[in-house]
Amino acid sequence: MNIKEIIKRKRDGKILSSKEITYFISNYSKGEIPDYQASVLLMAIFLRGLNFSETKALTQAMINSGKQITLSTLKLPKIDKHSTGGVGDKISLILAPLVSACGVAIPMLSGRSLGHTGGTIDKLESIPNFRTDLTELEIIKQLRKINLVITSPTEEICPADKKIYALRDATETIESLPLIAASIMSKKVAEGIEGLVLDIKVGKGAFLKDIKTAKKLAKMMIKLGKNFKVATIAFLTNMNEPLGRYVGNSLEIIETIEALKGNIESDIKKITFAFGEEMLLLGKVVRTREEGKRLLGEKLKNGEGLKKFRELVAAQGGDIRIIDDYKKLPTAKYTTSLIGKENGYIKSIDAYEISKLLLELGGGRKKKDDTIDHSVGFHFLKKRGEKIEKGEPWVKIYYNNKVKGEWIKKELEKAIEITKRPPRKIKLIYQRIRF
Ligand code: URA
Repeated sequence: MNIKEIIKRKRDGKILSSKEITYFISNYSKGEIPDYQASVLLMAIFLRGLNFSETKALTQAMINSGKQITLSTLKLPKIDKHSTGGVGDKISLILAPLVSACGVAIPMLSGRSLGHTGGTIDKLESIPNFRTDLTELEIIKQLRKINLVITSPTEEICPADKKIYALRDATETIESLPLIAASIMSKKVAEGIEGLVLDIKVGKGAFLKDIKTAKKLAKMMIKLGKNFKVATIAFLTNMNEPLGRYVGNSLEIIETIEALKGNIESDIKKITFAFGEEMLLLGKVVRTREEGKRLLGEKLKNGEGLKKFRELVAAQGGDIRIIDDYKKLPTAKYTTSLIGKENGYIKSIDAYEISKLLLELGGGRKKKDDTIDHSVGFHFLKKRGEKIEKGEPWVKIYYNNKVKGEWIKKELEKAIEITKRPPRKIKLIYQRIRF
């Protein structure tokens, strides 16, 4: 077997055997296949696709490139949630403490910002000293103690995926359904979980722009889950508008804490509860969705969700004073507001345009190794469907580069549509899919 032959076969649209896929992954991981050959094979896969058995073989090979975490000694159900990436998406940060407070162990291995989408790890790193590089031993110890961990994948989890992901990022081969499915599911299987709720985001601010493609990805991932014994349920959710009212790393930590204090935005609550109910059902903590809803509502109301978040911050070395004093989080030097020019209603706020503007402020990464300015971002005082009056401030901008302030205001205006009549209601959750 040799890599040139494998490239040629995929280039010509042939189906690769699981031996060929394993050969590629294990030799590329060891540095025995150069980047230029791996890149063309990835491009051939991007263009020709992979069938289900090839995708399954790829997932298995990526898992085998590292170690799997063994959580079998933990008594609680082990369930996780994963999002394909959005704008203003802080759902994991609110959902994980709430569900964990209900008696589920959550070993959440999350990512950093990717392309235009934000990352849970970057948001958490706004908290001074918060560690996101836990070892396997630390993950297991912390799960035993507080049943919740949110950290980056350890070096031993799917190292092949890490290497291939960087190459995909550099070769425009990210948006391939089998490559996305294998990349995400290999890491989730390696976490040692029993159940998974997937949030497949669709729309302007997501990688996937249409429901048909998102559904295809959901089905592929659910089938992979079944094959690897991780009960998987997917939701297709709307990512045309940013979620909640804040976009920006430390601002989204504030919004998370406020939500856990009970001041939760309706869109965030709807999605958090839908996923939470499903996680509780997967973990057999409740028997019906209604029971799940009641339990989550109770944990939100009695402050146990917030308490769990506090435990998480403390366990991972973060400064817990941020929970009661937001000034302890990175704060931007300047703020300015966008003022309404006419009376009307907000028809849309383009999530993709907002994410690009956040990047311009320094709140995301243009290149993999860029450092992030955690303090910058936007606060939408008004959201889709809400009334706005002439002269009223409706977006607050947090920034550090004085020169960019006025420019961003002009650009922001282009990302937002105002109409005379209230816009029609939109669906937040398009579909729930299970095997
Ligand atoms: N997130 C991942 O971890 N991998 C992908 O391919 C896409 C999103």
